[in-house]
Amino acid sequence: MRAIVDQDTCTACGLCIDLCPEVFQEQDDGKALAIEGDVPAEFEEVARDAADQCPVEAISIEE
Ligand code: SF4
Repeated sequence: MRAIVDQDTCTACGLCIDLCPEVFQEQDDGKALAIEGDVPAEFEEVARDAADQCPVEAISIEE
């Protein structure tokens, strides 16, 4: 599973970074960037939660 943050949509609210810093990291502009490659299995559930909770639906999950 991979997570992708749409940089044009992300509003830099920080929610996903707070929920799952192992997968979503804050960039200089405050927007989130997901780790490259597969999300480690132990963080898949919380990464999905972050995608569900993103207020602007900027996070997409690829299986
Ligand atoms: S929750 Fe959504 S809007 Fe907020 S920082 Fe993460 S990707 Fe951006």
